[in-house]
Amino acid sequence: MEYQESLKEQFGITKEVWDYAKKTEEAILPLFAKIDAITEQNQYKVLAAMQKNKVSDTHFAATTGYGYNDLGRDTLEQVYADVFGAEAALVRPQLISGTHALTVALAGNLRPGDELLSPVGVPYDTLQGVIGIRPERGSLAEYGITYRQVDLLSDGGFDWDGIRKALNDKTKLVTIQRSKGYEWRESFSVEKIGQLIAFIKEIKPDVICMVDNCYGEFVQTIEPTQVGADLAVGSLIKNPGGGLAPIGGYIVGKEEYVENAAVRLTSPGLGKEVGATLGVTPSFFQGLFQAPQVVGGSVKAAVYLAKLMEGLGFDTLPKSSDKRADIVQCIRLAKEENVLAFCQGIQKGAPVDSFVTPEPWDMPGYDCPVIMAAGAFVQGSSIELSADAPVKPPYHVFFQGGLSWHHAKIGITIGLQTMVDRGLITL
Ligand SMILES: *Cc1c(COP(=O)(O)O)cnc(C)c1O
Repeated sequence: MEYQESLKEQFGITKEVWDYAKKTEEAILPLFAKIDAITEQNQYKVLAAMQKNKVSDTHFAATTGYGYNDLGRDTLEQVYADVFGAEAALVRPQLISGTHALTVALAGNLRPGDELLSPVGVPYDTLQGVIGIRPERGSLAEYGITYRQVDLLSDGGFDWDGIRKALNDKTKLVTIQRSKGYEWRESFSVEKIGQLIAFIKEIKPDVICMVDNCYGEFVQTIEPTQVGADLAVGSLIKNPGGGLAPIGGYIVGKEEYVENAAVRLTSPGLGKEVGATLGVTPSFFQGLFQAPQVVGGSVKAAVYLAKLMEGLGFDTLPKSSDKRADIVQCIRLAKEENVLAFCQGIQKGAPVDSFVTPEPWDMPGYDCPVIMAAGAFVQGSSIELSADAPVKPPYHVFFQGGLSWHHAKIGITIGLQTMVDRGLITL
């Protein structure tokens, strides 16, 4: 059977949707060359780091118990440090998510009486509980760590004056979120983050600048640690795990600050010396090796979705032609029915759980129902094809991932078809 007919039979892709998808893909093909060039450079970077550190199959052995002398773990951490142009790294399955890695980096480097500053507006939802912006048991606020925030200006730019005023004697650490999270704002390029850090360090040279690097890794050819960030933190079930890491987080940066985090993760006096890897090390290595390719595919998917939706009159952030700083594509879908149809369509294109229909639910930590489409091999993995949306006006949907561009393209096209089938849009 012809491919187009198979798609029709399997997913109900009509000729009009097929034609529109084809036209859209042709229009964005010139952008793909640029994405491929970034992928190649990042692939080289990872390869070079692995060769430099003489990665060998002896590094793939599992350790148990305390995990002393885990050569694979230590080598992997050196590879991460090199890839990020940093002094040291902590890359562990015991860091159970991005939120946990950020918590460990913050709690390890802040002491009672210190102040934390976010110069880029409100942090990601889960971090609000960690900091104590939203009261939670065990928050940094409970340990006497205060928090200050400087919002972005209405045009999305940094409030330089406000940041200058907010920095004070107590400011110990500045947290900069690269990706937009659930906000309708630009994600910051590494260059922009570099400018912000330079500005902050000129006023207060000893302040620790930490970047929440979630969704940003390998989207550009440099990372925040190469433009002055003292720490960069992220999740292995997002970009750097390449879809293969089944769990994990990383903290890279200056040796001293990574060590501060390590003694918080394990124990004072133990630090990085302990922590068994239980057999996950090969998937961490191989996932990192594949990450540039997977991220490149995800960026292509984001551009494709943006272009599809722009052609239908929806607002997109970033625009299909914009330079990318992360893999997240936000679409203002304007009504609830659009959000449900798109997310339910994405789910239909998943390799896992394609037969279930996602519905909005009251997730802890969110102020409205949230719908999440994810049929992933790794639970909650958002480097895999996924879309989620807080179900409230103006009905933004946040799309990211895809283990391959080709899978993402099929999934997104089914999302569009579902909107067409429900009479929400006409092509
Ligand atoms: C995903 C994400 C996190 C961490 O989320 P986890 O689900 O805990 O991994 C933190 N910040 C941003 C901007 C994120 O996108």
